[in-house]
Amino acid sequence: MHFNELKVEEKILRAIEQLGYTEPTEVQEKVIPVALDKQDVLVKSKTGSGKTASFAIPLCELVDWEENKPQALVLTPTRELAVQVQEDITNIGRFKRIKGLALYGKSPFSKQKLALKQKTHIIVGTPGRVLDHIEKGTLDVSKIEYLVIDEADEMLNMGFLQQVESIVKLLPKNRTTMLFSATLSDQIKKLSSKYMKQAVSIEIDSAEENAPNIEHVKYVVMEELKLSLLEKLTIIENPDSCIIFCRTKERVDQLVDSLDEKGYTADKIHGGMMQEDRFEVMDEFRKGEFRYLIATDVAARGIDIEDITHVVHYDVPLEQESYVHRTGRTGRAGRSGKSIMFATPHEDKFVREIEAFIGFSIPTGIDLSADKVAQNRAAFNAKMKEQPEAKVSKSEQLNANITKLYFNGGKKKKLRAVDFVGTIAKIDGMTADDIGIITIQDNVTYVEILNGKGSLVLKTMRNTTIKGKLLKVHIAHK
Ligand code: AMP
Repeated sequence: MHFNELKVEEKILRAIEQLGYTEPTEVQEKVIPVALDKQDVLVKSKTGSGKTASFAIPLCELVDWEENKPQALVLTPTRELAVQVQEDITNIGRFKRIKGLALYGKSPFSKQKLALKQKTHIIVGTPGRVLDHIEKGTLDVSKIEYLVIDEADEMLNMGFLQQVESIVKLLPKNRTTMLFSATLSDQIKKLSSKYMKQAVSIEIDSAEENAPNIEHVKYVVMEELKLSLLEKLTIIENPDSCIIFCRTKERVDQLVDSLDEKGYTADKIHGGMMQEDRFEVMDEFRKGEFRYLIATDVAARGIDIEDITHVVHYDVPLEQESYVHRTGRTGRAGRSGKSIMFATPHEDKFVREIEAFIGFSIPTGIDLSADKVAQNRAAFNAKMKEQPEAKVSKSEQLNANITKLYFNGGKKKKLRAVDFVGTIAKIDGMTADDIGIITIQDNVTYVEILNGKGSLVLKTMRNTTIKGKLLKVHIAHK
């Protein structure tokens, strides 16, 4: 099947093509037509299957560009995932100029409130902050026609059920609801039957979407010997990019300090950190600026980082599902990966539960002899010293052709998006399709110019008026 066969407009097909997606994944093939038909849908599928695009494509297609109030709401369990989904929506909706906005906690409310005064088509947020905005009247949900609950099982694990239900009750009844979950527990089924209408149920066969090219191994190790085992393993494996999961934030802090001392390029992420720091660390890891990310399970869900070669479960996950989610950070998009679990002798019970859950027993890793460590040490030391190769993300590739321009006039000068489009599209060599997202604030406006035509527009707009006004224009700083 090809994306062309789906009933989506050319502007969206073009964005999909530029993202490098050649054919729909299984979940996309099954979900997109149903969603475009505005039927409720309950989807059992994991991250890594392309499920974000399976709702982002229909949402971008279905929302009406003219409407200023938000028409779609996507709820996610973590802030990192909210930002990632919002970015995916922006990438897919770029040529239709779809505006997505991420709302999440531990970040200034007032800034979000201001952003909500702008035209926004799709809101992506974590339940607490979304509910807060609705209750304070800063998020108008009267025009919400589409609701997506992403990673629903994780949402319940994190104790967000009540907040999710409170939000759903405040939304218009006449809407399309899509619920995505890695597992379909009774609680999830109950939630869906309570809030969805004759939902079409879609299950993506996990055998097919589960990356078969992940190698699993386990080591039984005493707690006090974990660090030296990790050291030996990393010397032998010499990973390019590795996530090490620990059970608590204290253990993350300790381990990152120990690895720092040993000269590893390591950083950490856990729920006790400031949100800005969390984003920054994820961003740097995504770009490949350091090789070892030490994390609690906040980083286990949904986070899509290319080319993670190794996942280490430094502590056995207490829930079987976490094993699958942690492991799913590697071996993405058909690549191979390795999952290595450390278990102390008395954690046998948890290991057996995990093995029963995944349906196979995890082989015990081979002995890491001193000889083998010695043989690999030189290569390991060499890699420790070299700067990791920078990774370029898909959205960066897409953004390479985009220039954001700043104009020193906005709402107070009675300027509207049509005024900018009208003037800029008339420039020789430009069409309306070369114009991306326009953000109009009280005194400034940002206009994205696509297809590498930024400098042409910049040059021309320096001496061209908009609605009779000559505005200052320069490349926006961010
Ligand atoms: P998700 O399951 O939404 O986290 O997506 C997993 C990864 O697959 C992301 O990096 C997507 O950009 C990528 N992806 C989504 N759809 C496709 C597709 N049709 N072809 C290739 N890659 C895709």
